[in-house]
Amino acid sequence: MILSPLTPISNIPRISLAYQKRLIKLGVKTLRDLFYHFPHRYDDFSQIKSIGELKENEVVTIQGKVTKIKNVHIWKRKMNITEIYVEDETGGIKATWFNQPYIANSLPEGTWVSLSGKVNPTKPTKVGAKLLSGTNINKGLYLSNPSYEKINKDEPLALRHTGCLVPVYPETTGLSSRYLRYLMQLFSPALDQIPDWLPEEIKASQHLIDLNQALNQIHFPASDKTINQAKRRLAFDELFIIQLYALWQKIKWQKEKAVKIPFDEKLIKEFVHNLPFKLTDGQRQSAWEIFQDLNQGQPMNRLLEGDVGSGKTIVAALAALQVASGGFQVAFMAPTEVLAIQHFKSVLSLFKKYDLSIGLMTNSEGQISRKGKSSKQTKKQLLDKIKGGQLKVVIGTHSLIQKTVSFNNLALVIVDEQHRFGVQQRAALQKSTINLCDGLPSSVPHLLSMTATPIPRTLALTLYGDLDLSLLKELPRGRQQIITKIVGAKDRLAAYEFIRQQAKQGRQVFVICPRIEINEDAKKENALPRKQVWSKNNSSPFFENANVLDEIKAVKQEAEKLTNKIFPEFKIAALHSKLKPIEKNKTMADFKSGKINILVSTSVVEVGVDIPNATVMMIEGAERFGLAQIHQFRGRVGRSEHQSYCFLLTTSPGQESNQRLRAILKAKNGFELAEHDLRLRGPGQFYGSKQWGLPDLSMASLTDVELIKQVRSEASNILQKDPTLKDYPLIKENLRQFKEKIHFE
Ligand code: ADP
Ligand code: MG
Repeated sequence: MILSPLTPISNIPRISLAYQKRLIKLGVKTLRDLFYHFPHRYDDFSQIKSIGELKENEVVTIQGKVTKIKNVHIWKRKMNITEIYVEDETGGIKATWFNQPYIANSLPEGTWVSLSGKVNPTKPTKVGAKLLSGTNINKGLYLSNPSYEKINKDEPLALRHTGCLVPVYPETTGLSSRYLRYLMQLFSPALDQIPDWLPEEIKASQHLIDLNQALNQIHFPASDKTINQAKRRLAFDELFIIQLYALWQKIKWQKEKAVKIPFDEKLIKEFVHNLPFKLTDGQRQSAWEIFQDLNQGQPMNRLLEGDVGSGKTIVAALAALQVASGGFQVAFMAPTEVLAIQHFKSVLSLFKKYDLSIGLMTNSEGQISRKGKSSKQTKKQLLDKIKGGQLKVVIGTHSLIQKTVSFNNLALVIVDEQHRFGVQQRAALQKSTINLCDGLPSSVPHLLSMTATPIPRTLALTLYGDLDLSLLKELPRGRQQIITKIVGAKDRLAAYEFIRQQAKQGRQVFVICPRIEINEDAKKENALPRKQVWSKNNSSPFFENANVLDEIKAVKQEAEKLTNKIFPEFKIAALHSKLKPIEKNKTMADFKSGKINILVSTSVVEVGVDIPNATVMMIEGAERFGLAQIHQFRGRVGRSEHQSYCFLLTTSPGQESNQRLRAILKAKNGFELAEHDLRLRGPGQFYGSKQWGLPDLSMASLTDVELIKQVRSEASNILQKDPTLKDYPLIKENLRQFKEKIHFE
C-alpha cells in the first residue's frame, strides 16, 4: 500500500481499530493530521553515560546487556514489579518498572538495551532487596520506570525512546507517546511528501526552514536549536493562514461598492458643540476616521475598540447622524434587548432636535419616535416603515438583520459589543447585508463594530485582521478611580452597612450573583463560569464538589434575603435571563428612573448598561468570574461625579484566584488587565480561540508581536502581488481548506 499524507488512518491495516479510535479522539484522521500532532515537550535523554560514572539524580541514558530479569507479583497490593539488571564494561545497574509485566518478555536476558531516566538512590524495599540480593549494584543506584528500547550492539539503529531528545505528545487513554513515536517513525516517508506551501522568497526573507525539515525536527529533533527553528516555521504557518484569510476577506469586502457619504462639517460641528461635554481626543480621532471611510466608494469595515465607559456610543451616534442626515438608513444592533432599549433612549435624546424618525425593534417591543414624539408600533408597521425608507435609524437586537427585514437604502450597520457576536456571525452579517437593500442595488452598507473587550493590539490584529481599528485609549476626563476591594466573609456586614449609607444618600447599587436560583438547573446556567473565561485545567476547586455548589449565591434567594433581612427599608429587584423580556425591560426602566435602589442581577448587566447614579457594584463569588468580565461589571459604576466602589466578595478563594483578583485592584484599565490575564492563562484559554472561530494554535503565540507583524506584512505582500493567488496554488488550496474549517467549526 502506498501511503500519502492524505491517507486516512482507517485505511492503514497496521493501525488496529482500537488505536484508530483513540487517534480520532486526538483529532488525527489522516497521516497528515498525525504529523501535525505536535509534542508538547521533550525529555532530554541525550546524555549517554557509562554505568560506572552515574551519579544520583541525573537524567541519563545507559546502554548495556540484560544479565538478569525478575518479574514479581505482589498479590496483596495488586502490584507487579519487573526488575532487570543491566551491565556494561564499567558496571551494572538495576532498573525497575511497576505494573508493566510485558517488559520482561520484550527484554529477555542477553538483550542489548538502551535505558533513559532519572538515576535514583536505592531505598532498599524488602521486595527489591530480596529480588536481586547478592548482585553488585552500582553504588546503590537504580533507574525507576526508565524509557527503554532494544538496541543492536553491532549495527546502531536510530534511537526513538532513549538516548536523544524524546518527544512527549498530548495523549489519550490507551494511547501513549511511545506508541505515537512508533507511528511517526513508521510513517515518516509519507511526512516527506507533504508539500511546502510557503514560497521560497518568504522562506528566504524570514529565514524559515523548509516544511519537511520543520516537521522532521519537531518529531525527530537533533537539538534544542533545531526544535526552535521548527517551532518558528510552524508558528509562522499557523499565523500566515489566519492573516491571509483575514486580508483576503478584507480585499473581497473592499471590492464591494458602497454609497459615498460626504462629511457635513456644519452638521457635525453643531452637534458636537451642543453636547454637554467635550469629546475626548480618541472620540474625535475615531469619528474622523469613520467620516473618511464613509466618504469612500467602498464599504467601511471598522472596529471601534474602547474600554468600558470610554464613550463609544457617542461616536456611533455621530456616524449615524451623518448617514441619516444624508438621507440613508442606519441599523444599530445590540446583543441584548436591555441594551437596545438603552441605545434607543440615548439616541432619541441626542437627536431630539433633528427631524429624523428613529425606530426600536426588538422581539417584544416596537416604537418609533420623531422630534420627541413617540408611538408604539406593531412589528408589521415597523417593517413597512423600514422598507418604505421613512425610518432613518433603526435600533434593535440581532433580529434586525433577518431575511424578513428589508431596508430601502441601508447605508450603515452598527454592531455594538461585537465580541458577543463572534467571527462567524460577523461573516454572516457581512454576507447578509449584501442583499439587504432594495433601494441600493449593487451596493453594501458600511460596517462599524464596537467592542469593549480590551484586547491587546497584537491579538486584535489576529482576531480582527480583516477590520480597520480605531481606538479610544482614554476615558472621558473627570472620571474618578473606582475604589475596588476584595471582601472576605467576615467583612460582609460592613459592606452591607456601607451600601446602606450610599442608598440613603440616594445612590443605587448593583449586586451580581453567579446563579439565578438555588436548584438543579443552576448548575447548567450560571453556576459554571463562562466558557471563554475558564478552561478545564483552570477550573476552580469549587466545581468538583456538588455540596459546595449550593453555597454559590443565587439572584432569587439573594434578592429575598436582602429584602427581608438586610435592607427592608429599600426597594430591591431581581434581574436575570429567565424573566420575560417585558419584565426585564420594566425592571431596567425602574432602576434607571431611580424607583429601585438595589438591583440583584446575574451577568445580564455585564454589557453596556448605563446607570450614572449607581455607585456600588457588589460581585458575589467574584473568583468565579474572569478578570475581563469583572472589569465589565465594574464599568457599570463610576459614570457620574459620585465616587464609586466595587466590592469583590469571595468565600474561600484559592491562592490562584486570589492572585487573579488582586490584579484587578492594581490594573489601571482593561488593556492592562487583558495583558495580565493573557500572561497568566495564555490566549487560547482566556479568549477561547474556538469562540472567535479560529482554529487552535499549537505553535504560534498570539503574544509574539514581532512574528505577527512580519507574518502580516508577508501575507499582505503576496496578496498585493497576486490577488487571486493564481501563481500560488498550494496557498490557495490551504486557504480554501482553512475557510472550510472555520465555517464548520
Ligand atoms: P461605552 O464605551 O462603555 O459604550 P458609553 O458610550 O455608554 O460608554 O458612555 C459612557 C458614559 O460616558 C455615558 O453616560 C456618556 O454620555 C458619557 N460620555 C461619553 N463621552 C463623554 C465625554 N467625552 N465626556 C464626558 N462624558 C462622556
Ligand atoms: Mg457601550
